[in-house]
Amino acid sequence: MLITHDTRCALDAVVDLVNSAPDDPDDEGGGSPEGLADVAALREFVRNHSISDVGALTERDLAAVRRIRTRFAEVFAAAEAHVAASLLNELVAAAGTTPRLTDHDGYDWHVHYFAPGASVADHLAADCGMALAFFVVAGEQERLRRCEAPDCRRAFIDLSRNRSRRYCDSRTCGNRLHVAAYRARRREAAGQEQEQELQQEQVVQ
Ligand SMILES: [Zn+2]
Ligand SMILES: [Zn+2]
Repeated sequence: MLITHDTRCALDAVVDLVNSAPDDPDDEGGGSPEGLADVAALREFVRNHSISDVGALTERDLAAVRRIRTRFAEVFAAAEAHVAASLLNELVAAAGTTPRLTDHDGYDWHVHYFAPGASVADHLAADCGMALAFFVVAGEQERLRRCEAPDCRRAFIDLSRNRSRRYCDSRTCGNRLHVAAYRARRREAAGQEQEQELQQEQVVQ
């Protein structure tokens, strides 16, 4: 699967977008707050992901971006390719795309999907929608995942060669679990040692 710089940027953006959603407050641990709380937060998101030509951002943009965020979350939650495909078809069609080749800023030729002058929501729906669509095309929709760490469930895209990634970020969730597993093994090993010592003492007696 060819992943160009734009696809990579779009994938990073859509993962960040989905993960900006507030967790269900009924979830264990209370859940995380809304990551796109206001227009300023949206502006920061746009800046962080270098989303170009979206003009001045408004409350309307914020509402539209939150709406497509819900749709993208459904794509990550889709268990079957045909469900993901119809969600992506709707998202991309509603965004009114005009695919065009570009080699801007010294990058190799690649396709931009968003229409000129598209709103930020349409821009994201078109480019992120198409970036995810190629996973369905490649039969690799299973790479769109949710973290398996308890109380996390963040979205991520597994780009590992053998599709073995289970956690959103190995530095936090993966590591956290590794540490927990390590401690459990240590405890177990320490318990066995104590037991052996006890048995040896009994033998000596
Ligand atoms: Zn580009
Ligand atoms: Zn995680």
